[in-house]
Amino acid sequence: NATLWDSDPELFDLMQKEKKRQLSGLELIASENFTSLSVLQCLSSCLHNKYSEGLPGQRYYGGNEYIDKIELLAQKRALEAYNLNPEEWGVNVQSYSGSPANLAVYTGLVESHGRIMGLDLPDGGHLTHGFATPTKKISATAMFFESMAYKVDPVTGLIDYDLLAVLAKSFRPKLIIAGISCYSRVLDYKRFREICDSVDAYLFADMAHISGLVAAGVIPSPFEYSDVVMTTTHKSLRGPRAAVIFFRKGVRSVNQKGEKIMYDLEAKINHAVFPGLQGGPHNNSIAGIATAFKQAKTEEFVSYQKQVLANAKHLAKKLQDKGYNIATGGTDVHLVLVNLQGTGISGAKAETILDEVSIVCNKNTVPGDKSALSPSGFRLGTPALTTRGFVETDFDQVVDFIDKGIKLAKEVNALSGPKLVDFKKVLQTNEDIRKKVKELK
Ligand code: PLP
Repeated sequence: NATLWDSDPELFDLMQKEKKRQLSGLELIASENFTSLSVLQCLSSCLHNKYSEGLPGQRYYGGNEYIDKIELLAQKRALEAYNLNPEEWGVNVQSYSGSPANLAVYTGLVESHGRIMGLDLPDGGHLTHGFATPTKKISATAMFFESMAYKVDPVTGLIDYDLLAVLAKSFRPKLIIAGISCYSRVLDYKRFREICDSVDAYLFADMAHISGLVAAGVIPSPFEYSDVVMTTTHKSLRGPRAAVIFFRKGVRSVNQKGEKIMYDLEAKINHAVFPGLQGGPHNNSIAGIATAFKQAKTEEFVSYQKQVLANAKHLAKKLQDKGYNIATGGTDVHLVLVNLQGTGISGAKAETILDEVSIVCNKNTVPGDKSALSPSGFRLGTPALTTRGFVETDFDQVVDFIDKGIKLAKEVNALSGPKLVDFKKVLQTNEDIRKKVKELK
């Protein structure tokens, strides 16, 4: 049983380089984090070897005595992390990741080619919320379901709930998604609920990005108003790469005759995950989920999430002080969207130059962008650096580095003209610029 460094030094070397990159750069991608040693131990454990199609107690394979216990533990802790009553909520912990989990929710609750509504991708939604362009259905969630996007107000950058209400009345979706990948304000779940009720749609909260903040109670929770809630477990939650789907159980409503109408989501969601979309669950990830949700109940986790939030607000303010335009004027969550419209620098150029000096973030559309392919902003998130112990004063320095990077981008731009390929060429070949990159790095 040779170790990786003996059996495959070429691969091991690349992995060591990636580790060094992660530790020496400034990690500001809003969806990334550094998970704990405990989670990593689960992921590389013998649980990986086991097949266990089905649910605890109802498996299609033998040998699942301990796997059943691990999955039940993960379920219990997932519910506890959000203070959910097991009489009212159930949870499936088998989804491989957020995208298949979202597809499972739609296949479970909406008939094929039924209607869904989600926040448009350029406005801060996720691909799996039914993203399509006027000419192309980009995501499978748009190919197999009919999707209509709702939007943010182009001036304020805030979700236009009034417009959503009107669109929902005409489109009559079966399900509305309240969830974001790049929107820096808390969602008005009550308003979403009212809109869903007005058209008899399910309210599905995709809290993938914010679920750590929700678990710590530092931002509003979607559970009070939602029928189904999905989260990935690897973003602000800091667990393994996986996802969980919470669904309501018990009484949904009482009809005019006084009869109780029960929720019927449990079988629909469980069946959609397996056998609908997946085969054997990844038991090593499920163990990682269990231990991540244990961590989410600690004081340390709550302090961490408070710091994530404080750092994000500080980051937004300091960038504003330096004259940057921050979408929606600030943030309520862990991410900040910098709008570069009117500066001559695109999101792609900003990402390129920051990457060059080991500041890792991603280009992103900002409200009003015509295309998701050439966005004019970049997104920053604080979960990963907060895990590394950064506090507000450290972010002062992060902002200084970003500002120097963007100023350098302007210099490169002046030499290269507008095209990204020319920009990259100057960045790589101009000696004076190379010197400045090296200094900043
Ligand atoms: N939902 C939201 C809101 C996301 O931001 C993401 C990923 O960034 C996903 C779903 C998909 O998760 P995954 O990348 O694990 O498939």
